[in-house]
Amino acid sequence: MFGFLKKVADYTRDARDSAKYLAQGLSVTFDHMRRRPITVQYPYEKLIPSERYRGRIHYEFDKCIACEVCVRVCPINLPVVDWVMNKQTKKKELRNYSIDFGVCIFCGNCVEYCPTNCLSMTEEYELSAFDRHSLNFDNVALGRLPTNVTTDPSVQPLRELAYLPKGVMDPHDVPKDLPRVGELPENVLKRIATEEAKGGQSNSVQLNPDGDAS
Ligand code: SF4
Ligand code: SF4
Repeated sequence: MFGFLKKVADYTRDARDSAKYLAQGLSVTFDHMRRRPITVQYPYEKLIPSERYRGRIHYEFDKCIACEVCVRVCPINLPVVDWVMNKQTKKKELRNYSIDFGVCIFCGNCVEYCPTNCLSMTEEYELSAFDRHSLNFDNVALGRLPTNVTTDPSVQPLRELAYLPKGVMDPHDVPKDLPRVGELPENVLKRIATEEAKGGQSNSVQLNPDGDAS
């Protein structure tokens, strides 16, 4: 008898949870149904990539020490560091450096671990080509400064949904000075610095008289 009642209780709970998750999913669907489509007239209008967008990698030849850390941390050992050992100076001499963006997965590991910061991710995302081999960028192509949506005079930059003011869905004709939803990254960094300057109180774990962390 007890086993039967437990089965009924479990079944009822599962049915209630399923109905709840179904309603949650449909609420997103219904929310989108009352929105009007927004068209971005590419290439005359372009969305501004987010702050941490990982686009085409920029490389500074003069700062590279040919250590090959970028190759070791790359999941597919992609960067090609072409160097020779100078027997007189007993130092490496960098000849060429290349990354094939037809293969790169833009994970950012090489940028993260490069000891001299000669690699950086840019917001350049227009890498379509007729020949995939033309995506193999050498150090000259990698050193080219990236295109920027906000500084290109021929492009109308549009804010993405997450960067629009609260309640605004259409990025067209939004005044530039209207603040976005949420905090800007620089404001978050300032707030963290202020909290740390206060003596790290926010980070330190305080013990109450009972010995519990608070
Ligand atoms: S990790 Fe940086 S410095 Fe080292 S080889 Fe790669 S790009 Fe050059
Ligand atoms: S972004 Fe990732 S996949 Fe591309 S070269 Fe760097 S480490 Fe390799």
